[in-house]
Amino acid sequence: MADSFDDGCDYLFKAVLIGDSAVGKSNLLSRFARDEFRLDSKPTIGVEFAYRNIKVGDKLIKAQIWDTAGQERFRAITSSYYRGALGALLVFDITRRATFGSLKKWIMELREFGDSDMVIVLVGNKSDLGNNREVGEEEGRSLAEKEGLCFMETSALENLNVEEAFMQMITKIHEITSQKSL
Ligand code: GDP
Repeated sequence: MADSFDDGCDYLFKAVLIGDSAVGKSNLLSRFARDEFRLDSKPTIGVEFAYRNIKVGDKLIKAQIWDTAGQERFRAITSSYYRGALGALLVFDITRRATFGSLKKWIMELREFGDSDMVIVLVGNKSDLGNNREVGEEEGRSLAEKEGLCFMETSALENLNVEEAFMQMITKIHEITSQKSL
């Protein structure tokens, strides 16, 4: 990671995207990455990631966001994927109840491999497909409350709430990190 830490940033954060296949993880990441992002990959462990520089208060933060590059299809997410991650966007598809049903398994995995104070934002994606909705917004919100997660519905297709979901995670990580360094 040190090679990318070269442009005067105050902090470098790693965060991961997680959730079932085809819920929209890579589309959310490319939305958030926009043109200013560099998409990159680590073929050795089969992940893709993107960077973005963000100003929070007077600090410049470089967020490095990892995507599974489809490996979740094979249940092949390893502990190295989670190592050092301070945040996670846990994504499900509001039009496929099975992806909501898998969340318990993903939460267990995050708790097992992730940092104990990892910031997790639960994301119900594809909010543009309201007519095909299988999971109510209230269901997402109440699971998030029960598990102590943040919650947001997004549409990667229509670019709704995508920036907000990532920013919620990044600002919270910044809060926790700056408290620790006091
Ligand atoms: P991943 O496997 O979780 O990375 O999912 P992808 O980002 O590859 O998306 C899977 C499919 O869902 C693709 O056909 C996308 O075009 C579609 N998709 C992703 N996000 C949205 C969204 O917000 N709305 C709609 N309608 N389709 C989406």
